[in-house]
Amino acid sequence: TEIRDLLLSRIRDVADYPEPGVMFKDITPLLADPAAFTALTDALAEIAERSGATKVVGLEARGFILGAPVAVRAGLGFVPVRKAGKLPGATLAQAYDLEYGSAEIEIHAEDLTAEDRVLIVDDVLATGGTAEASVQLIRRAGAEVAGLAVLMELGFLHGRTRLEPALGGAPLEAL
Ligand code: IMP
Repeated sequence: TEIRDLLLSRIRDVADYPEPGVMFKDITPLLADPAAFTALTDALAEIAERSGATKVVGLEARGFILGAPVAVRAGLGFVPVRKAGKLPGATLAQAYDLEYGSAEIEIHAEDLTAEDRVLIVDDVLATGGTAEASVQLIRRAGAEVAGLAVLMELGFLHGRTRLEPALGGAPLEAL
C-alpha cells in the first residue's frame, strides 16, 4: 500500500550496527520527514482507537518518540516503560533474557489501574523479549493489554510466535 511504501522508503538499513553481522533498521530518516512521521502517527493512533485502549505504553527509547504523539492524537494517557534505574517512583520490575545476558525494565505501578486497557507501542519487534516483558509488567500492574503496535516486525526472528501466548488473543499489528 501507499503508506507502507512511504514508511519503508524512510527506514535506513545500517550494516554491522550495533555489532558485526547485524543489519540495524534506523528510523531517524522517517522521524525527520514530516509527511512520513505524521502518516505513522495517524496509523498508530487509528490502531489505538480501534483497540479501545485507555493508555499507550511506550518502550524506551524509540517507543517514546512514537508512542507520545499517538497518545495525544488518540486522546489517551502515556506511560513509559524504562530501562531499570531511571524511574524515580515506586516501580514494578521485570527481567528478561537477551542473546547474551539479561536486561530489566520498569514501570511506575501507580500510572496504571485495573480500569486501564493498554496499547503497547514500539518501533521494532525483533525477538519479542522486550515486548513480552512489557506485557508481564502491565498485567502485574493490574491493567489489561489491548494490543501491541509496532512500525516494523523482523519476521525472521519469530517475535510474533514468541509473543502470541503472552498476548493471549490481543492483536499484534505491524505497519
Ligand atoms: P527484542 O526485545 O529483541 O524484540 O528487541 C526489540 C527492542 O530492540 C526494541 O525496543 C527496538 O527498539 C530494539 N531494536 C532491535 N532491533 C532493532 C533495529 O534493527 N532497529 C531499531 N531498533 C531495534
